Amino acid sequence: MNLSKSLSDIGPLSFPGMESGLPLVIAGPCSAESEQQTLETARALSAIGVKFYRAGIWKPRTMPGSFEGIGDEGLQWLQAVKRETGMMVATEVATVEHVRAALDAGIDILWIGARTTANPFAVQDIADQLQGHDEITVLVKNPVNPDLDLWLGALQRFSNAGITRLGAVHRGFSSAGAHIYRNDPLWHIPFELRRLASGMTLLCDPSHIGGKREYVEPLSQLAMDAGFDGLMIESHCNPAQALSDSAQQITPNELKSILDRLVIRSGAPIEDELALLRQQIDDCDHELLAVLARRMSISREIGRFKKANNLRIVQPARYQDVMNARVDEGSRLGLDADFTQRIMQAIHEDSVRQQLDIMNDN
Ligand code: PEP
Ligand code: MN
Repeated sequence: MNLSKSLSDIGPLSFPGMESGLPLVIAGPCSAESEQQTLETARALSAIGVKFYRAGIWKPRTMPGSFEGIGDEGLQWLQAVKRETGMMVATEVATVEHVRAALDAGIDILWIGARTTANPFAVQDIADQLQGHDEITVLVKNPVNPDLDLWLGALQRFSNAGITRLGAVHRGFSSAGAHIYRNDPLWHIPFELRRLASGMTLLCDPSHIGGKREYVEPLSQLAMDAGFDGLMIESHCNPAQALSDSAQQITPNELKSILDRLVIRSGAPIEDELALLRQQIDDCDHELLAVLARRMSISREIGRFKKANNLRIVQPARYQDVMNARVDEGSRLGLDADFTQRIMQAIHEDSVRQQLDIMNDN
């Protein structure tokens, strides 16, 4: 028997009292830290009209020793939030034990974090544990690495387990090299997910993409313009004191200002071919700049080596070999030989200039 339902059949999430046409906003602190912080933040968010509250209680942190969450105790605080404000509550689950505890505590929405989505064994264990719980809402964040299939695969595992209240959250992708954002948005990946599962709720998490509070507003607007269905935003009553992700959290009042200024356009520009292609161009430019910055930093390293070893900066034979090889490689990739030559020359000139600076710097 094949229980699997295709992701293209998954419909949008709906909740009692949810106004259609408005973005679904889930807000709350990165982590529940104390009963007082959890409730104070929740009260302030409820007062500005937020209906869905998030707080991590088990935190998968990159480095051991950083705050790893308050654990099971935090479930009672989320229950108190629910009782007192009527908001629905959401938390991250990463193990079977988390799922059991969260279900027992009556948590409404479970989300799968980016590190967990990257691990199919963990996802399958969680999905097995949720089998039959068709009342629960599950949100699946994209995996840390830019692999659409891994994201789709995790969603499919929940769908196969009978979860129909399913949504996806775009939180950007880890990448090496210099980037403006903490996690590279690579918008074409969530756009492709939307194309393949066009009815499924797709949220954007501008907090984890941007990594800094000043990026939350522009990224939220961008997500709305791109046709995302809602936002998951980190908000803390005292961001400066937050035990995790302090730089990206905003106060409930700041969240209100951002939400008030958000322009919600009608239509679904995410399906607009031109917008999609332009976004891909932007992604390419970000990658190009990051690669150029990396190349220049290697050049400077070479400059320092040449200085230490009394070598000449420009070694003409090496230059000509590199240029010929690049023009050939470019031609094989369909690039015009003259264009490749001009680009490589410009890069080489700046690289020489930077090495000269190093030589002359005593
Ligand atoms: C979070 O939402 O606090 C979190 C840990 O997110 P992510 O899994 O996207 O890193
Ligand atoms: Mn966080």
